[in-house]
Amino acid sequence: MPELPEVETIKLELEGKIKGKKIKEIKIKLPKIINLSVKKFQSILRGLKIEQIKRRAKLLIINLSDNWNLIIHLKLTGQLIYNAKPEKHTHLIFYFNGGNNLLFNDLRKFGWIKLLKNNDLEKLLIKEKYGPEPLEKNFTLKIFKNLLFKKKNKKIKPLLMEQNFIAGLGNIYAQEICFYARVRPDRKKETLKENEIEKLFHGIKKILSAAIKRKGTSIDSYLDIYGKKGNYVPFLKVYQREGKKCFRCGEIIKEIKLAGRGTSFCPECQK
Ligand SMILES: [Zn+2]
Repeated sequence: MPELPEVETIKLELEGKIKGKKIKEIKIKLPKIINLSVKKFQSILRGLKIEQIKRRAKLLIINLSDNWNLIIHLKLTGQLIYNAKPEKHTHLIFYFNGGNNLLFNDLRKFGWIKLLKNNDLEKLLIKEKYGPEPLEKNFTLKIFKNLLFKKKNKKIKPLLMEQNFIAGLGNIYAQEICFYARVRPDRKKETLKENEIEKLFHGIKKILSAAIKRKGTSIDSYLDIYGKKGNYVPFLKVYQREGKKCFRCGEIIKEIKLAGRGTSFCPECQK
């Protein structure tokens, strides 16, 4: 599933390509992915201008003229591809004035696109109760400690993946952050020492920033808007490396199930 770095990459790329453009037409092949009737969705969107592209947690938010917004969740396998030919899994196409297009492809069909007025977008964000954005300056060590203090009886890796704890982390980066901090992913948060909490905090900032710089991680189907894979896979230290040697100490990376998700770690250097 695309996590913060992948959605952020798409956001940055879209900014350079579709900001300022006007929507000319929309083709919808799979109506269940949108929140309105096909006719209504099309008639509202025709002629609207793309004003801003934002991200909150794993949501992509496109501010349009007239107080409208497109909210896109890529879920497991969604892709937004710019100026490409539709394929088997293309479910929706935006056409812009000037001849460019943007495809929404989704193999597993869990992704969705909502067209909402500003106040309904606000309501949606309040309902989701997202935690802080980890790369923003106001996400500080102090805030991280406070958030940790509030959560009781939690194991650190599943906790990192809770969207109302910190927004945007998923299965890949939560594992990488634990490795960075030398903390076993199944450690109870009550057992974490001060220096481990600090390392987790720095790991969150460092690993997410590094992954954005490399345009994300392509394991399954994630592609950027040019149809290119993210370049972070060679930098993964534990995710899907079970049975391989730890880059840090040479021990064999182990895999366990944690809250139903496969989770890899080094039994030697993560304690
Ligand atoms: Zn190791």
